[in-house]
Amino acid sequence: MIYMDHSATSPVDPEVFEAMKPYFVDNFGNASTLYSLGRDARKAMEAAREQVASLIGAKPEEVIFTSGGTESDNIAIKGTVYRLKNKGNHIITSAIEHPAVRETCKYLEKNGFEVTYLPVYEEGIVRVSDLEDAITDKTILITIMHANNEIGTIQPIAEIGKIARENKIYFHTDAVQTIGKIPVNVEEMNVDMLSLSAHKVYGPKGIGALYVKKGVRLEPIIHGGGHEKGLRPGTENVSGIVGLGKACELAEKNLLEDAKYITNLRDKLIDGILNSIEQSYLDGHRTKRLPNNVNLRFTGIEGESLVLHLDSKGVAASTGSACSSKSLEPSHVLIALGLEHVEAHGSLRLTLGKENTEEEVDYVITAVKEVVETLRKLSPLWCAIPGAERRE
Ligand SMILES: *Cc1c(COP(=O)(O)O)cnc(C)c1O
Repeated sequence: MIYMDHSATSPVDPEVFEAMKPYFVDNFGNASTLYSLGRDARKAMEAAREQVASLIGAKPEEVIFTSGGTESDNIAIKGTVYRLKNKGNHIITSAIEHPAVRETCKYLEKNGFEVTYLPVYEEGIVRVSDLEDAITDKTILITIMHANNEIGTIQPIAEIGKIARENKIYFHTDAVQTIGKIPVNVEEMNVDMLSLSAHKVYGPKGIGALYVKKGVRLEPIIHGGGHEKGLRPGTENVSGIVGLGKACELAEKNLLEDAKYITNLRDKLIDGILNSIEQSYLDGHRTKRLPNNVNLRFTGIEGESLVLHLDSKGVAASTGSACSSKSLEPSHVLIALGLEHVEAHGSLRLTLGKENTEEEVDYVITAVKEVVETLRKLSPLWCAIPGAERRE
């Protein structure tokens, strides 16, 4: 199988797995206990906190462990607005957020908060001038993702953060897709809160972290035993935390080399497909995009059939986002780019990883071409396009 769906999840790196192993059977202690077994677990956890902090340029005490990107987003967003609800009720976000942010905002809208969804235009990037226009004296939170999980576009986070600071508004960014792929530095990006997750960077599923800048205070949304500064109570997932730490250490060490290698594969894949298949289009910005993201559309083709046919050729890819591909609604991200529904249904996302090779890219270019040709022969949409017969 050729795996090209790394933005949905990634395999656990063998080094990460090795690091985690002792914390299941032998060093199984509860990190909040006083005897040495517990203290060892605590030590491993604190070492992991340093590894996570180092990757993002934070101090270890600014990192809290969570169950993943979704929980980090919820703690940051709800924790901020519940705390500041007497100051204002306005939140600014973008039109292309991951459901973990988008659905949280929708929920808050039903509960008295107002949300502005900034447009992203054809290239999938917010405009800082729109943000400035949207700010009111009721704005208490700006939450805009670092890079998008479907189309890979990278937002001008440092500039957004600067505006947030000038206006004394808290700023959260979902960086789940960017850690390990492009440099992430909380100081340079001017963020107050940042979400990350292990399973998108060769770590295990179900573990993540939230950076909370020193001095930023959040209202807890989960209540319990007071772990993780009371923000994420519950017995710590020590093995997961160790895995997250190791994944961050490897990500930091290999970042530039991996990014260069994967960008090369990405460009080969994009050019190979666009050049060999007529009426094929790239979604999102050509260069302001993640090193590993390819998102394409083919006139007259349904994304779901494309993915299923590619699967039968041994290629794992996705359409829309993994979370919404079970629904018939087109991706809100592609709609935000200004695409028609029928166009948005025809998307193919290929997201590369460090274990992909040039040979795999060559195979996938050929496989996509074959599948698109087969499906177009059967497609009433394609045959209805003037000149379709001529093309065959
Ligand atoms: C995957 C993803 C999440 C969710 O992270 P989980 O750890 O799966 O909860 C949030 N935001 C973005 C941008 C993602 O890609």
